[in-house]
Amino acid sequence: PSADSESGAPGQESQVLSVLVALPAHSPLSATPLHYTHTGRLPPGTLVRVPLGARAVLGVVWDDVPLPQQEGLQLRPLLEAFTALPPLDASWRRLVTFTAHYYQRSMGEVALSALPPQLRDLDGTQLARRLRKLAADKGLEARTASAPLPLTPQQQQALDTLLAPADGGTAPRPCLLFGSTGSGKTEVYLQAVARTLEQEPGAQVLVMVPEINLTPQLEQRFADRFPDQRIASMHSGLTPAQRLQGWLAAHTGQARIVLGTRMAVLASLPGLRLIVVDEEHDPSYKQQEGARYSARDLAIYRAHHAQARILLGSATPSLESWHQSRPAGDGDAGGRYLRLAMPARIGAAPLPRVRLVDMNHQHRRCVFSPQLLEAMAERAARGEQSMVLLNRRGYAPVLHCADCGWKSECPHCSAYRVFHKIDRTLRCHHCGFTERVPRACPSCGNLDVQTLGQGTEQLEEALAHELRALTRPDGQPLVIARVDADTTRHAGSLEQQLARVHSGDVDVLVGTQMIAKGHDFRRITLVAALNPDTALFSSDFRAPERLFSLLLQAGGRAGRDAAIGSTSELWVQTRFPTHALFAALQRHDYPAFAAQQLEERAAAGMPPFSYQALVRAESREQQAAQDFLNAASSAAADVPEAAEVFCYPAIPMTPQRVANRERAQMLLESGNRAALQRFLPQLAQQLHAQRNRTILRWAIDVDPLGI
Ligand code: ADP
Ligand code: ZN
Ligand code: ZN
Repeated sequence: PSADSESGAPGQESQVLSVLVALPAHSPLSATPLHYTHTGRLPPGTLVRVPLGARAVLGVVWDDVPLPQQEGLQLRPLLEAFTALPPLDASWRRLVTFTAHYYQRSMGEVALSALPPQLRDLDGTQLARRLRKLAADKGLEARTASAPLPLTPQQQQALDTLLAPADGGTAPRPCLLFGSTGSGKTEVYLQAVARTLEQEPGAQVLVMVPEINLTPQLEQRFADRFPDQRIASMHSGLTPAQRLQGWLAAHTGQARIVLGTRMAVLASLPGLRLIVVDEEHDPSYKQQEGARYSARDLAIYRAHHAQARILLGSATPSLESWHQSRPAGDGDAGGRYLRLAMPARIGAAPLPRVRLVDMNHQHRRCVFSPQLLEAMAERAARGEQSMVLLNRRGYAPVLHCADCGWKSECPHCSAYRVFHKIDRTLRCHHCGFTERVPRACPSCGNLDVQTLGQGTEQLEEALAHELRALTRPDGQPLVIARVDADTTRHAGSLEQQLARVHSGDVDVLVGTQMIAKGHDFRRITLVAALNPDTALFSSDFRAPERLFSLLLQAGGRAGRDAAIGSTSELWVQTRFPTHALFAALQRHDYPAFAAQQLEERAAAGMPPFSYQALVRAESREQQAAQDFLNAASSAAADVPEAAEVFCYPAIPMTPQRVANRERAQMLLESGNRAALQRFLPQLAQQLHAQRNRTILRWAIDVDPLGI
């Protein structure tokens, strides 16, 4: 191949460089780095700008990849090298390579999506200016640090085990901190971070939380404890300038503490010594588009290769992590992780009492059982707060005509649109299609169109009606507030609403699961789940795990303040009060629940006893989508790598049609993770080959959630 001749300094030869750029995932070029020429050496990890067609794009110099032999190949010189910035280190490059291979995406896509978007728009001079500004402006206030709390024996033991020196040369074992809500896990994180930062001058720590809503609280606790540390935040709620600044601070080592959501796992952290994954069971750690990575699983990989410590924390661990942390037993060497247990709640505030209401004894349309209403009224009369959990937002899931059977289906999806009373719209929660509610049935003209089922809006209204005669201790009427995706659409509105709850303005809080997570509500002493039953018999085998975790988390919101004195309660209305899940819940017995679930999973050969991947395809026709998937799997069935992998036939997804696209999926399963990993590239090759113009999109999801 003849490289472009470039007029470089004498004695400096023109070199060929491998460079990763962001290419569409399935572009034929995306599998390997591209090649460019440059005068003089540039170390791998250097950020560069290169020509791509008529555009100039950001790229990362990659470890040498041999140039394909091709006659008359003309290589173009790169446009600019950002030498003011230290190169991305080998550990980060290894993480990118692993992520791309494991999740079947291109390295360029993974690498470039892990960089702050604003980096694409800056030239070398602008970048150098940002770096100077960053070094000058530390953004710290002179404050005194909040003192570390004297640890309980359980906390102390967890901390000591986590920080114990690893055997020479080996990576420390990942630790699972199994601690009840309010057991003081965050204090353990804080002290582990403090000790790690003291150990080495350049040490960095990464602390991850599942939800962006939880970052402000955690940031505050870290800022209070470490007033002289720069803390970099990484989540999707930041402006492009803030994201760039945080990324640069982490990359240059000026920020030694990085807090963020799942995206933070791909940050450049040259001094990484400790990773904390809080609420490690939370499904939000799984990215749902592009490279569908699990930030928790990548964190484990990353810590291992950086020889850093890693702490996964949860009151209801994922069954994967629970199984992986099982102690050694007869004939079983045990899991790879260490399990650290903190069963006791700080301040000895007892765990909430679980009250099951058998809804078989209520009339069919009953939403609030009289017992529950009475309990809520008692709490309110004492100035305490209650929280009511419901799955569905909106007023009522469906509008319905009793005369002709019309229902408020979405014209673009195989799903019903939800009635939102507040702005009198029918809204599709899958494609977003929104219309004014019709005055009469669109099909027969009947003026009496009714609602079916309850959403949060209707619940708030019904509850207000039920509790209308009650007053607070000061004689004022009760205040009921709703928090869900509809009431928190605007930036800052969630914080405002939560502040109202904290200040005691609200007596009853109604909401979807977003209120159940992490928030520290001091005066809530009663939590109620109205209709959890669908999760008991869901086709998604992880539904019971999620329900148990949600209920235990939600219960954990109650009674966090021992000073209030009254016993906190978790109320569950169900038609299956004898179900094993509720029995374990009543005893707050996660280990019993997990054991029973793992036994079922082992018998059925499901994760964590097998490994799965899901291939999804979209087309205008359902049959075309299924045919495409089935054709690819038949074509791949003969390769030797297919031996240990079972491909199920393609089936429609639920909902089957979204935004006028028919969706199908095909499940792959293997008892051997490596075998599945070897097969996936073979299958991907067939998917490329079998793709025709009827296929709008396809993607592979490795270790999928929500099947
Ligand atoms: P978790 O993260 O496990 O839900 P937190 O870390 O938020 O629990 O702790 C619950 C409460 O207990 C917090 O108010 C915290 O300040 C307090 N706390 C934690 N550890 C201690 C300790 N060792 N001594 C006294 N209070 C503590
Ligand atoms: Zn009708
Ligand atoms: Zn729709």
